[in-house]
Amino acid sequence: MQITRRRILTTGTAALAAATLPIRAWTQTTLRMGDTEITTLSDGTLSLPADFIFGPMPQDELAALLPGLGIDRGAALTPPCNLTLLRRGDVLALFDAGSGTAFQPTAGSLPDALAAAGIDPFDVTHVVFTHGHPDHLWGVLDDFDEPYFANAEHMMGGIEMDYWMDEATVSTIGAERAAFAVGAKRRLDVIAGDVTRFGDGDEVLPGVVAALTPGHTPGHMGFVIGSGADAVMVLGDAIGNDHVAFARPGWISGSDQDPEAAAATRLAMFDRITADAMAVIGFHLGQGGIGTVERLSEGYAFRPSA
Ligand SMILES: [Zn+2]
Repeated sequence: MQITRRRILTTGTAALAAATLPIRAWTQTTLRMGDTEITTLSDGTLSLPADFIFGPMPQDELAALLPGLGIDRGAALTPPCNLTLLRRGDVLALFDAGSGTAFQPTAGSLPDALAAAGIDPFDVTHVVFTHGHPDHLWGVLDDFDEPYFANAEHMMGGIEMDYWMDEATVSTIGAERAAFAVGAKRRLDVIAGDVTRFGDGDEVLPGVVAALTPGHTPGHMGFVIGSGADAVMVLGDAIGNDHVAFARPGWISGSDQDPEAAAATRLAMFDRITADAMAVIGFHLGQGGIGTVERLSEGYAFRPSA
């Protein structure tokens, strides 16, 4: 397995004008396994109130832990959003579709990141969803409500699909996530007839196996690409940050819809990842999101490949 990083600078205009225009940078991290190339692309960042994650945690222990993780308890959290792109032969598969333009102003930059990487959205062959949250799903349609990846096969776990398509979800999910339910159903209604559903353990693409990892959402899916020590796991939001989710994976987090189930899932995932020495790709992990997991005397740490 070989991992490289590079920075791409673009201005979208002539070089002469570049000095006066803001230069936007996308960092790409690329991992190669045999004939498979995996790259993460940035969809920007989110801005979340700290309590969205930290609210239900034991506050005294949290206060002792956060400074060592470089986190200010009083500040908003600004997690990055990393989409995973897998290229092998004729397959150009994207894991999740990003936020689109309707969720948060700091997110939705995937079209620019694709352009910077020289990728035409029409050439994407598969869009494989980890789950139905806005920053993963809402970019599936363009501003005309047409599929943005017009030629792609869209794939979602069956449990997850049923949950967001259920008319009752908007009233059972809780007030603070009701907009998630409305937004997911509106988008899935457009593509539902063409979505390929899959289950736990299914090989969604050659060499890519789905892993049901529930709790963050009812049908959240991770994906193991490759096998043995040459495998990498797409974590989605099941391990949703590179600080407390690693340091104290058993703590319940406000960002998970079923916090107890999500904590049990995280602990099981860390056991599997470290037992098999898998690399990981996390949607909201720092520095491009690709790295390895180190087991500490208590908890774990994310070691980015950069
Ligand atoms: Zn999520």
